[in-house]
Amino acid sequence: TLPPIASPARTRAIMEEFGFRTKKQFGQNFLTNTDVLKRIVAAGGVGPDDDVIEIGPGIGALTEFLAVSAHQVLALEIDGNLLPVLAQTMAPYHNVEVVNQDVLQADLPAMIAEHFDGQHQVKVVANLPYYITTPILMHLLNAPIDIAGITVMMQKEVASRLTARPSTKDYGSLSIAVQLNMNVELAFTVNRNSFVPAPNVDSAIVVLSKRAEPLAEVEDHEAFTKLVKGSFAARRKTLWNNLQRLYGKAPDAKALITQALEAANIAPSVRAETLTIQQFADLQKNLAAVGL
Ligand code: SAM
Repeated sequence: TLPPIASPARTRAIMEEFGFRTKKQFGQNFLTNTDVLKRIVAAGGVGPDDDVIEIGPGIGALTEFLAVSAHQVLALEIDGNLLPVLAQTMAPYHNVEVVNQDVLQADLPAMIAEHFDGQHQVKVVANLPYYITTPILMHLLNAPIDIAGITVMMQKEVASRLTARPSTKDYGSLSIAVQLNMNVELAFTVNRNSFVPAPNVDSAIVVLSKRAEPLAEVEDHEAFTKLVKGSFAARRKTLWNNLQRLYGKAPDAKALITQALEAANIAPSVRAETLTIQQFADLQKNLAAVGL
């Protein structure tokens, strides 16, 4: 029997056989550490009750481990040059389907309906292409689908932003966008030498799971996002200063902002990074109430 796809020798042999060269523009850093792969599958709690969507299978390093544990695996790969490679490496696994697809363009509800039987919970597990980590997460979180868990590798710096708490340097609009509806946990970190080629940054596995209830009640998501992003636009300035920039053009803006801040019980002199998600939600409601 063959060694795992992710073993350094087999990865090298596969790439040579197909004359495949990794492409920077697709964020191709392949995992060659089987211990890390086992730990990713364990962190995701992947088992026979799960249908798994993998984003970016590469040559199949992680896909192989998912195939062994999961009920069904659907792998979306943007790079057409990898399809013949995957056809060969995935041949022994009859529960894996590979689709040549840009995940950001994917109609996920339609793909789930087409490829899965609807009798299993759906999980996402991936070693993400780092250049589009945030767009991919937003695409997953905004899609009208029921995902039981998202277990993804990303650069450590982005993982710190996802897990950050108020009043820390990494806390910002990304932390808030994700934590509003999801529990976010850092599972473990991974050294850059576990990949071929080695990326310039270290990595971390993050596990996201849906909260039973959102952390705060938000009715107007668009206005909420606008407020949060605008509040962090100039991080070192006060909340008041950022709100001025955001709503300053409205008539009576100063008085109305003051009124909303008072109603939300928030001092204008604080910085956005001190506000909890609940406070942002509260502030947004009060800004809407005064017409901003
Ligand atoms: N899963 C493999 C592994 O762990 O060795 C490869 C991970 S590599 C970091 C990222 C993979 O995502 C590459 O195979 C790359 O071609 C693919 N990819 C990049 N952009 C993508 C996109 N927009 N949609 C789908 N796959 C993409």
